[in-house]
Amino acid sequence: MTLIDFASDTKTRPTPAMRAAMAAADVGDERANEDPTVNRLNQRCAAFLGKEAAVFLPSGTMANEIALAVHCRPGEEVVCDATSHIIGFEGGGPAALAGVMIQPLAGSRGIFNAEMLRAAIRPDRPYAPRQRLVIVEQTSNLGGGAIWPLATLDGVAGVAHEAGLSTHMDGARLLNACVATHIDAAVYARGFDSVWIDFSKGLGAPGGAVLAGSRAFCDEAFRLKLRWGGAMRQTGIIAAACEYALDHHVDRLADDHANARRLADGLAGIDGLSIVPGEVETNLVYFDVAGMPAAAFATALLAKGVRVTEMGPARIRAVTHLDIDAAMVERAIDAVAEVMRAAR
Ligand SMILES: *Cc1c(COP(=O)(O)O)cnc(C)c1O
Repeated sequence: MTLIDFASDTKTRPTPAMRAAMAAADVGDERANEDPTVNRLNQRCAAFLGKEAAVFLPSGTMANEIALAVHCRPGEEVVCDATSHIIGFEGGGPAALAGVMIQPLAGSRGIFNAEMLRAAIRPDRPYAPRQRLVIVEQTSNLGGGAIWPLATLDGVAGVAHEAGLSTHMDGARLLNACVATHIDAAVYARGFDSVWIDFSKGLGAPGGAVLAGSRAFCDEAFRLKLRWGGAMRQTGIIAAACEYALDHHVDRLADDHANARRLADGLAGIDGLSIVPGEVETNLVYFDVAGMPAAAFATALLAKGVRVTEMGPARIRAVTHLDIDAAMVERAIDAVAEVMRAAR
């Protein structure tokens, strides 16, 4: 039985064509800016993200952590949604590496707005932490893949800049938003001083993220990449997979979104599950299970060859991606129905 793996869009494996592109890559010493494939990828990403420059990094986590450390000094404060990846999934990096404080906002599905940000702006007092940076996550991971509306992003960036704060976009799944709405990445990112995209999620590459911003921002980012051991050598091998993904795996994100919606619709018809299919805007599907703990549900489903992730006592996440097709979605819906039937 082959595993139908909805655990994450990081579970994709490089396709034969992607591997061929990797094998054929022109390479050089990346750390000395001599890798032509990495340099080309950086230029290309800077252009479509609408920024001056870009830096290739091993992971999205490093992109967020470097951005925090370039924008902020220790003791300064970052404002972001309470569900943010930097809070729950980066090993305490904001405290350990940049030394920042975080003021979490209680947004809706990971999305806050200009008024909420304005209410969180602190007066400049010697006893208060100095605020420095506002972060948004497009799309919001714990928010269920929710897409920040452009007007909300522009409003938040406007309030931040008015208050003298910098802005950063965690764009791990920015291209999912772009494909779903037909809004360009540069437009979504126009109010943000830095932005990155991940190649190891829906784009299906084995690794890599590109962080973009002004030339001065990227020069500092490169210094930290080197200091933290993220500067590599013939990384064109990986950058070639990323370029391949930009050429061949962006438009097909629409298939992941259609599969996620079909999964959500199928799950909505099963007794004991609660899900709002209309909230599934991209490739992340969250739902709640009644009658058994989420962990027991995930274990029972795995025994039927379908893997999902437990995200809370009753909460489950299923993610569609390159290695999930429409037939697998139907098999998964049937397997979930069997698990719920057996539990009654
Ligand atoms: C996955 C993810 C990251 C981290 O990216 P990695 O490449 O896995 O380190 C950051 N932010 C969000 C929203 C993510 O989903």
